[in-house]
Formats: sequence, structure tokens, C-alpha cells
Amino acid sequence: MTSEIERLCIEKNMRMTDQRRVIARVLSDADDHPDVEEVYKRSTEIDDQISIATVYRTVRLFEEADILERHDFRDGRSRYELLTDEHHDHMIDIESGEVIEFLDDEIEKLQAEIAKKLGYKLVDHRMELYGIKIKD
Ligand SMILES: [Zn+2]
Repeated sequence: MTSEIERLCIEKNMRMTDQRRVIARVLSDADDHPDVEEVYKRSTEIDDQISIATVYRTVRLFEEADILERHDFRDGRSRYELLTDEHHDHMIDIESGEVIEFLDDEIEKLQAEIAKKLGYKLVDHRMELYGIKIKD
């Protein structure tokens, strides 16, 4: 089956190689905002001929084609997810690196109100919350 990212690549007339297809599949299947190292690890489980350089190049290519969104969650490594129209924000566990997605209507509304008060129509925003898990 064609992965979501491969489908987008075909739509954008990008040349697809077998290795690109594997990387596209790994990224399409991920729901945890992996970094390049992690994408590389998962890709080599499918095709052990794939090099980290190829993963770097392919991820950058997908990002430049507006297929992937890059995040910097302040741990020194870029992390990626599929770029979609559906907005969400991120809560980052600074101990485990786990990323939790959330959407809060009140916060969304508040941000638009703040922008309006400052004389702007809000077109985009990014919110990242950083935390340590509360142990009970
Ligand atoms: Zn996300």
C-alpha cells in the first residue's frame, strides 16, 4: 500500500526511489515526532542499505516540499511530523522526551483575542509546554 507521504510526493511530482519510499513509510507510520536518528533506526529495520545521510537528505526534501513539519523541542535535535491542516499544540516531557499533542479551545480563542487586541488577525501560532511528570 502507498503511504500517506508517498502519495503526497507523487502529487508533487517528486521522484521516488525504493529508499525514499521506505523513509516515507516510516514517517507516515510514526505518531511520536521522531528525530532523524530514530527515522534512520526504523528505516534500516526495513532496508539495511539505507544510510543516515540518505535519511537526512530525504527528510530535508520532504520538509522543503511542505510534507513534513520540523519542530525544535529544545533538546538539540529536530523532530518531525506530517504537516497537516489540523492544528495542535505540544506538551513536552523534558525527562523522557515524550511529546503529547493537545488542542484547547479556550487557549485558541485567547490567543486570537490577544492578537486582535494588539491589532492583528492571528494566522498561525506555536505553543510548546515543557514539563516534568507529576508523580503521585
Ligand atoms: Zn504534533
